[in-house]
Amino acid sequence: MNATLIAPSASSGRFGSSGSYRVDGDDLAVELRLPTDGGGDLIAFAGEVAACEGTLTWYRYRALHAAYEGRLADPAYSEDSEYDRVCNPFTQVAAAYAVVAHVGRRAAEGFLDRALACFDRIPAIGRVMRDGLMSPYAFAQAVLETANVVDEELLAAIDADAALRLREIGGLSVPRVAKTVRAVVVAFDPDAAHEARESTKAGKQVIVAPLDADLSQMIVTTSAEDAALSFESINAIIAGVCEHDPRSVAHRRSDAALARINGMAFTCACERADCMAELSDHAVAERCTNVVLHVVCRKEVLDGSDDSPAYLDGFGPISAEHARDIAGRADAVRRDVDLDDVAAHPHQAADPYRPDDRVRRGDPRRVRSMLVAGMRPTRVEIRSRPRVRVQPRRPRRRRGHLPVQSQSQVPVPSPAQDIR
Ligand SMILES: [Zn+2]
Repeated sequence: MNATLIAPSASSGRFGSSGSYRVDGDDLAVELRLPTDGGGDLIAFAGEVAACEGTLTWYRYRALHAAYEGRLADPAYSEDSEYDRVCNPFTQVAAAYAVVAHVGRRAAEGFLDRALACFDRIPAIGRVMRDGLMSPYAFAQAVLETANVVDEELLAAIDADAALRLREIGGLSVPRVAKTVRAVVVAFDPDAAHEARESTKAGKQVIVAPLDADLSQMIVTTSAEDAALSFESINAIIAGVCEHDPRSVAHRRSDAALARINGMAFTCACERADCMAELSDHAVAERCTNVVLHVVCRKEVLDGSDDSPAYLDGFGPISAEHARDIAGRADAVRRDVDLDDVAAHPHQAADPYRPDDRVRRGDPRRVRSMLVAGMRPTRVEIRSRPRVRVQPRRPRRRRGHLPVQSQSQVPVPSPAQDIR
């Protein structure tokens, strides 16, 4: 595979387990070994091609970045000219890219935006993608997570630290990259986290998007904690249907959410006279009282003397300011958990194989993903219960009675099983 670069340089690298790329003069050569075997080899090849996408996207970003810089440096370009104000280099490059890549204007502008971020804002994270460790989708998430960092020195520190962590943890799915990069941003730059929080308030909305001829999607955009609480409340509602309800769980959630929004009653769909559904207002309210959303943070965060990041269960790292806002809610309950004490006695006194209730409440293992450089990781070890080999029970024969089981029902011990 050859591709001419605008600004060639002598470099090479590897991606995946056997892929490699090499810039040779004006050519970019990407080498992948075709599968020679069936089964696992074919799947491994598919994985190599997926890793290659990160490398090729990095070079596409690089070409567009160079094209943009070239337009900016063009002596004919002037910020004062009416034409260039309306049709600035960004718009020009995006429009030209839209034509050659067969994409729309908005998609091209989004791509160019990420290309500029890859070289001007977070180059170290960009190189993680170039080395095939992260997909272009995950890189786009990293661009979003760092978009509110304005201070250039802080941005450089965030870029370097986040790239190091991403290379260390591996398995870089989009949510994993989002949590990792967000943890670094909230730790290094609380102001950026504050900005992100303020800008998301303006983004709260409800939109309806058609999916196909029959279905439309209603999307409610709200705070992370309200979204998580609402989802758990919907689960609490649908938990009351009887065992004969024919709908899937996803279908029940959709029906329950719409019933709540429209002020209608959510009912079981079994249509049986002996339906045992527990969907009365009282039953639903009682289940909803058990909906709990955990936020783990240092004690000092709540009194404002510390700005360490906190952790919102099901979402990931959040800023100290965000944690204080949640703690200030009328429905918030504060529980103190001594992590050192929990780590020292993680299991119940009577059963070394059951986690202590404080571990389940605080779950400090989850806190590990929000730790930043210099913080001591907390890992609570609960011993795995040993596997017990279950011996088939020997059929008991009562004196004077023949066994009531038929011959086919009597467990027949195999030669390998030792029955005394
Ligand atoms: Zn029912």
